[in-house]
Amino acid sequence: MQIDDHAVVTFHYTLTDDSGRVLDSSVGNDPLTYLQGSGQIVPGLERQMAGHVAGDKFDATVAPEEAYGVTDPGLVHVISRAQLQGVDDLEVGMQFQAEGGRHATTVTISKIEGDQVTVDANHPLAGATLHFAIEVTDVRAATAEELSHGHVHGAGGHHH
Ligand code: ZN
Repeated sequence: MQIDDHAVVTFHYTLTDDSGRVLDSSVGNDPLTYLQGSGQIVPGLERQMAGHVAGDKFDATVAPEEAYGVTDPGLVHVISRAQLQGVDDLEVGMQFQAEGGRHATTVTISKIEGDQVTVDANHPLAGATLHFAIEVTDVRAATAEELSHGHVHGAGGHHH
């Protein structure tokens, strides 16, 4: 069957950035299984999965707007080293959890200049164009129960 909004899809992916650097890959691990139309994968990839069948291999390029969003300058803050007491050996690229609002957000140190530390609470992939190499390994019809729960059951699923 073709991938539509009632399909449970299993696929392998390799994600690279604009320079071809591999950011993430399922190859060599278990493939990913999701319910098409439920927003479990980035919107731009979900849209490009539609219509494919098991066995298809294709490349999907996804703009930031349809992936992890554009970079929000309002989420970048310069703080003093003293505000990061308890964090040893501060380095650019270091990530830590910051409490804020209802959710803990992941914050990345993007610059250190003397006592000034720039922290960025954007998603690490905000602003990035994503390049996926996709191999669809299985497509099946979702059960009525899966559709009502909005997620996949069984192998690769959430429960049962
Ligand atoms: Zn369920």
